[in-house]
Amino acid sequence: MPTADPLVVVGSGLAGWTLIREFRKLDGDSRIVLVTADGGDFYSKPMLSNALAQGKTAAQLVTTPAEPMAAQWKVTLLKGAKVSRIRPQGRRIELHGSEAEQPYAKLVLALGADPIRLPLTGDAAGEVLSVNDLNDYRIFREHLEGVETVAILGGGLIGCEFANDLAGAGYRVTVIDPSPYPLAGLLPEPAGKALLEPLGRLGITWVFGKAVQAVDRANSGCRLTLGDASTLPAERVLSAVGLRPRTALAAEAGLACKRGIVVDRTLQTRDPHIFALGDCAEIDGQVRPYVLPIMHAAKALAQTLAGQPAEVAFPPMPVVVKTPACPVAVLPVARDAAGAWQTEAGENGVRMRFLTPDGRLIGFALTGGRVAERMAMTRLLAS
Ligand SMILES: Cc1cc2nc3c(=O)[nH]c(=O)nc-3n(C[C@H](O)[C@H](O)[C@H](O)COP(=O)(O)OP(=O)(O)OC[C@H]3O[C@@H](n4cnc5c(N)ncnc54)[C@H](O)[C@@H]3O)c2cc1C
Repeated sequence: MPTADPLVVVGSGLAGWTLIREFRKLDGDSRIVLVTADGGDFYSKPMLSNALAQGKTAAQLVTTPAEPMAAQWKVTLLKGAKVSRIRPQGRRIELHGSEAEQPYAKLVLALGADPIRLPLTGDAAGEVLSVNDLNDYRIFREHLEGVETVAILGGGLIGCEFANDLAGAGYRVTVIDPSPYPLAGLLPEPAGKALLEPLGRLGITWVFGKAVQAVDRANSGCRLTLGDASTLPAERVLSAVGLRPRTALAAEAGLACKRGIVVDRTLQTRDPHIFALGDCAEIDGQVRPYVLPIMHAAKALAQTLAGQPAEVAFPPMPVVVKTPACPVAVLPVARDAAGAWQTEAGENGVRMRFLTPDGRLIGFALTGGRVAERMAMTRLLAS
């Protein structure tokens, strides 16, 4: 008897491994092949931006190495294996540098996202670092040896988290962002500005309203040239200007891609045998590059793959920003939402609530001590 083709999962990040774990709860026997370009070790990616101050190495961030994970979940692991092509008609994937093809019954794309590279000029533009996985973090730590000053491009969630972490680890940090205040893509102005002073006290210098255009070598590291022709010195430069979902493989296979790989609420692409979740996927027109949406999506997809079709439903999921000098929790609202923010600011932080014209709470932003109200606010929203 020929054995049935396996479920093939591509990507061993949180999305890939969580999907496998959820699937195994429902189906202990079907064959699973996990194909991943990296080492397959399980780690918490959010730790990448708060591990320096704790002195953690990349190896120390691994919670479970790949092989025990594969044994625990009964998975055939193909690590260091990069998928170069998907062939939907033959239900096969091709691997980079290999003649062999991997057949699949169902294929799950959990490919993650790539850091966006700014179009910088200058002879040190290629030395700008970004940290999006364990290997990046290892390289980043190596580059920090003997260094005192770091410039961070981008004052969004990841930029602010790294700024707090680097400052906590003793580095002098400058954050540069064309926006007018920190976390401007996530927070309304009064809440965003609440970060300025507490993080400033750690020694972080903010440069807003200006974009970096060039990075050149200079005596003690780099010289950054900004849009107004002013310059800044820094020994290392970290880019944290956002992520772009990895869509190329899917697009080349004829699957619909917009901001991410387009899937419906069952996480299915327009090919009934191919699914996507995690940072690479666009569900209902939205990319949700956070842990909680991945957990919900993985549970729903596991049910569908185990033969009980299910749609993912997302409850209100606040984003927590790991800036211990000024904690933040936010449930963002769409830019075009009808209503207005109401602000209360005091010694204990800022509390902002977004109310619709008929008085319904649909979003909030909390900073400092007011973050303690996050659960209560979320319950209010869900009710
Ligand atoms: C610094 C940082 C801090 C964060 N902090 C938070 C936080 O506090 N809270 C929160 O909710 N979220 C946070 N996030 C976001 C969260 O970590 C991500 O949403 C999540 O980890 C993404 O998981 P993923 O599995 O979709 O992608 P990834 O973890 O990127 O995994 C993608 C996988 O696909 C593999 N792959 C890619 N292409 C191929 C190919 N062609 N062939 C084979 N394999 C391939 C890769 O090797 C990798 O294994 C943070 C992210 C970063 C970068």
